[in-house]
Amino acid sequence: MKNNKALNYAIMPIVYLFLSFISVSTSFVILKVILDRYYRYNSQYGGAIVNAINFFKFFKDQTIGNYLYYIIIAVFTFFVYYLFMRKSLTAFLKIVEVTNKMAGGDLDKTISIDCKGDIKTLADNINIISLLLKNVTIEERKAQQTKADLITNVSHDLRTPLTSIKGYLGLINDDKYRDEVQLRYYVDIAYEKSKELEILINDLFELTKVQNRSITLNKIEINLVELLNQIIFQFGYQFQSEKIEGRSFFSEDKMIIYADPNKLVRAFQNLINNGIKYGTGDYLDIYAYKEGSYAIVDVISYGNPIPAVELPYIFDRFYRVEKSRNKNDGGSGLGLAITKSIVTLHDGQISAHSDGEKTVFKVKLPLLDKENNMH
Ligand code: ADP
Repeated sequence: MKNNKALNYAIMPIVYLFLSFISVSTSFVILKVILDRYYRYNSQYGGAIVNAINFFKFFKDQTIGNYLYYIIIAVFTFFVYYLFMRKSLTAFLKIVEVTNKMAGGDLDKTISIDCKGDIKTLADNINIISLLLKNVTIEERKAQQTKADLITNVSHDLRTPLTSIKGYLGLINDDKYRDEVQLRYYVDIAYEKSKELEILINDLFELTKVQNRSITLNKIEINLVELLNQIIFQFGYQFQSEKIEGRSFFSEDKMIIYADPNKLVRAFQNLINNGIKYGTGDYLDIYAYKEGSYAIVDVISYGNPIPAVELPYIFDRFYRVEKSRNKNDGGSGLGLAITKSIVTLHDGQISAHSDGEKTVFKVKLPLLDKENNMH
């Protein structure tokens, strides 16, 4: 097949040359017949064309004229051959010109040629490769930017509590406190700030782990309803001390999924923790139900809505809603990024909705096929 094509390409110019020669010689013969007729009818009248033909005949009888005749045929043949080949050659040159620019880094260029066949396929393929390369380059740049942002954010977020710790320990070290009470106060602040630092470092470590695709999940068959019940039970003390009632509304007793329970617990803990931390209502509700081949869990808190403009960013690492950023609640701004990564690792989805009344985090996890078939 490939050899056939190569042969075609080798023969094609010869065929075109031959066709050009045939068409030029035939045209010359036809022209000659027409002129001969014209001459026969008009020889007695003379005139410019007759004189030209006379001159041509005289000229053709000379040896040099004969040569010239063939040279003219050759020139015309070449011209027609050029016309045949021009389209493909122009397209080829265009490909060379544009690929030169692409090689120089200009991936915005595309090859547009008015041609068919393999040259067109070649041009189209180069365009596709260039587009893919451009997308990879954009992704690469984005990744580098994200890395740079991460380093800036990490340095900033690590430095803030560290500055406080250093400041208060400095005061103690220089004996700059009034009495025992003030000393305790300084130690307390330094201790709280060091706990904040610990949370941040742990979260960072966790996020790096779950965002690293090479992480191996220890997936087993689990009943999501049971898992949620256990998590809610563990939050009992926190609900009580924050004076919030944790309510569960589960439509099923059993929703079997294939998941890493430790990772999933972390994801739901983050959502419930946030609900307690940021909600201002009396309740924190957890709904669980099936939707097609998915298990859905809604974690709902009330009051303190997330502004619509901030909603698209809350799953970004280090993103904290303006109000919470100013509040010193020990949040790292990494919780939702970790949760999203864990859900994604389980082939699930997470979304958030917030209005004047409530904030809903919806987690969608694929049910085990076996479980589906039972219904
Ligand atoms: P952190 O809690 O450490 O600040 P997260 O990534 O967990 O970081 O959350 C990002 C931001 O989303 C929080 O700063 C908070 O402003 C907002 N948020 C998260 N959950 C809720 C919620 N249930 N209600 C209101 N705001 C929320």
